[in-house]
Amino acid sequence: LETEYSYIENLKTTSELAASVGHEIRNPMTSIRGFLQMMQKKSEYNQHKTFFDLMIEELDRANTIITEYLLLARSKPMKPNAENLNDLITRIMPLLKTSVTIINQDINTDLNEIPKFLMNGKEIRQLILNFVRNALEAMPNGGEVKITTKLENENTVLLSISDQGLGIPPEIIKKIGTPFFTTKENGTGLGLAICYNIAIKHNATINIDSSENGTTFYIRFQLK
Ligand code: ADP
Ligand code: MG
Repeated sequence: LETEYSYIENLKTTSELAASVGHEIRNPMTSIRGFLQMMQKKSEYNQHKTFFDLMIEELDRANTIITEYLLLARSKPMKPNAENLNDLITRIMPLLKTSVTIINQDINTDLNEIPKFLMNGKEIRQLILNFVRNALEAMPNGGEVKITTKLENENTVLLSISDQGLGIPPEIIKKIGTPFFTTKENGTGLGLAICYNIAIKHNATINIDSSENGTTFYIRFQLK
């Protein structure tokens, strides 16, 4: 019993430590970024412009990893609120659309009547954002992302996010959700780990249906 207790205590301090180290590292990174931007503009560094671009890009990448890692490590208990998922989705649509980078990509919704249920709005917003970003990134030649909600049965709200991308091969499906697993050159491999973490906290399940015609993620919330 004693070992178990210290193990849990230790786990807590580890994530708290990770959080504060993350914040502390960010501050010097921000000042380095500022100096690099300043130097980049000076004519004597003209011939090294690509190096400055790369340094800034790499700093931004490190910053993204810290942000996403902190989201994952955060173990604060969630503050749930009874909210309507449809309203939340409608509210964040403009934000989701900022992730569209290609002209023939589109995000549409099919929101059906569902009851309110307990959720942490910030976390659910993050979950949807991560799924939608992946969906868009899976369609480099364009296509539609569709966000659907419906009352699947009296006790289950179904949220599904589908894309028309290339799909996820079975050997990859097994690995997704593992922190730092990515197939992308600039991926962090933390997006889905965050989604799974948020789903667990909401007592929701995640299922994947993928073929060469696209991928659908199904997230099921229990009402009671
Ligand atoms: P990242 O996006 O940084 O790579 P994620 O955890 O969000 O990390 O996703 C992990 C991996 O899962 C991706 O690199 C990709 O291979 C795969 N993946 C996730 N969503 C999709 C999708 N909608 N279509 C195809 N592959 C996907
Ligand atoms: Mg991702």
